This record gives sequence, structure tokens and C-alpha cells, in this order.
Amino acid sequence: MLNHERRLCVREDELEWETWKDPSLKDRSPIIWKTLISQDKTDSSRLVAGVAEIPVGTLLIRHSHAEEEVYYILEGEGHLELDGDTIRVTRGTSVFIPGNAEHALTNTGIRTLKLLYMFPTDSFEDIEYTFPMNESLE
Ligand code: MN
Repeated sequence: MLNHERRLCVREDELEWETWKDPSLKDRSPIIWKTLISQDKTDSSRLVAGVAEIPVGTLLIRHSHAEEEVYYILEGEGHLELDGDTIRVTRGTSVFIPGNAEHALTNTGIRTLKLLYMFPTDSFEDIEYTFPMNESLE
């Protein structure tokens, strides 16, 4: 297969924003994201990447997943809770999140917090999110 026949390049502005399917999660954590690189969309393997936006005054609620993750903050500022520690993050901060580590990200700034995230797996669908605060979501 020739390179130009493979889907290896994606433009963020050509994709629609996605969000949680669960309405109670959506209310509690109104984050939106676009999966950029994922085997169901691109001719890719072993890496998933996407961008997410967390509106002012909201958060990505505490969760974990087996896969390791990297965040790279593109815009805004926030507090990342990572396994009990709180880390201030701003544009340019990169964080490695170990597999199964609980993490949450709160937008503490006056503008949208935007980040790039990456997972070492084939497809975003592979990621199984666990929410330790699930009891308060029901
Ligand atoms: Mn995560």
C-alpha cells in the first residue's frame, strides 16, 4: 500500500467534539474531546492521541484506566490530582500518568483548559474508564 493511500494525517478542525454517553457523567464533568489518532479512524497502531477541552470552572472527574497516559497542556491552567498529589499545570506542562493511577483535572483558570492526551494502545475504545466516585453519580 502506498503511503498516500493510508490515513495517517488528521486535522482537528475536521472532526466533531465527543463527550460522555452517560448523561450524569456529562453533567458532572462537561469535558469534550476529539480522538485524532486511533485504529478505528486512522491506519495506526499502539498509540492513541486526542485533544480535550475542560470549560472554565469544571473538571475531568477522578478516574483510572489500566493504560499509561500522557497529558500535554496546550492552553489554560489547572490542578491535576495524581494518586493523592496535586500538581499545578499550565501551557507547556507534560505529565506521565502511570497505569491504574487515579487522576482528575480541574480547570482553575479563566479560560478553557486544553490538552493533548496519548495512550499506548491501538484504539480509544480499548480504554476502560473506572470512576471511583461512581456511587455519587447514580
Ligand atoms: Mn485518564
